[in-house]
Amino acid sequence: MTIKCKKCNHEAIIFQKYSGMHLCKRHFIEDVERKIKLTVRRDYSIKKNDVIAVALSGGKDSSVALYVMHKILGNRPDIQIVAISVDEGIHGYRPHSLELAKKLTEKLGVRHIIRSFKDEHGTTMDELAVMDREKGTCSYCGVLRKSILNRVALEIGATKLVTGHNLDDEAQTILLNHFRGDMERMVRLAPPAAVEGLVMRAKPLRNIPEKEVALYALINSLPVDFSECPYAGEALRGEIRELLNGFETKHPGTKYSLLRGFDKLVGALAKELPPAKIEKCRICGDTCTEDICQACKLLGRK
Ligand code: SF4
Repeated sequence: MTIKCKKCNHEAIIFQKYSGMHLCKRHFIEDVERKIKLTVRRDYSIKKNDVIAVALSGGKDSSVALYVMHKILGNRPDIQIVAISVDEGIHGYRPHSLELAKKLTEKLGVRHIIRSFKDEHGTTMDELAVMDREKGTCSYCGVLRKSILNRVALEIGATKLVTGHNLDDEAQTILLNHFRGDMERMVRLAPPAAVEGLVMRAKPLRNIPEKEVALYALINSLPVDFSECPYAGEALRGEIRELLNGFETKHPGTKYSLLRGFDKLVGALAKELPPAKIEKCRICGDTCTEDICQACKLLGRK
């Protein structure tokens, strides 16, 4: 038996357990884009002459973020969209996803800038992965990538830096911060106020479940890499992902509830834990909250 879309008579392609709705292809696309537009309007107020940098890895999340931002803002002559990709130097993984990122930017006619760990930090993830390290590979990768993205975004005069974090990523991070009791990090999850030297982060997909991001990429035939990084696997996050997915199956809407609770709480939390003083790293000059930035610390620069 064909299941019909809740909004029309066409065949449904998805059942959203959390909303109780079966949706056809057209209404699913509309639903995803409506939620993204609402998030962008409410949390990130797009202004005239904004330069929007999109961090593009070639994976599903960042590709959908670029595609939808281009779809909703690409025809505004007063707004520029630029994609920035970072080549971390991961053999057998990153070259392919960068090819797909190039394909997408060419298809959309979006300027694409690629920078590498090797050129910017003098090393690669493959080199770091085999070294004696204090922290997991993803901690190095995340810090070094963020520093490059911010640096390039500043160079091109970007006013927003879009990342592809989806609802699952956000819900996992909220729970992870609770489990670690790390409320300072929790506050940093909220849309940051503009700070000199740090480009404002925007997460337009924060209200879209991961599975829906993947489905959206597939039905729009986006050139997307679905493979997994060989260094993936932050242990605690993996456990939290499983735990949350289990809860979501039994109690649909759990991930949205976590995000809503966080959004209500974060203002009060921010008053209790005001942001650290902004400094310039005494080694590389990047903006940070200590004497030396995280990237220089991790790389042992003196
Ligand atoms: Fe970097 Fe970890 Fe992502 Fe791989 S999984 S690209 S190491 S952050």
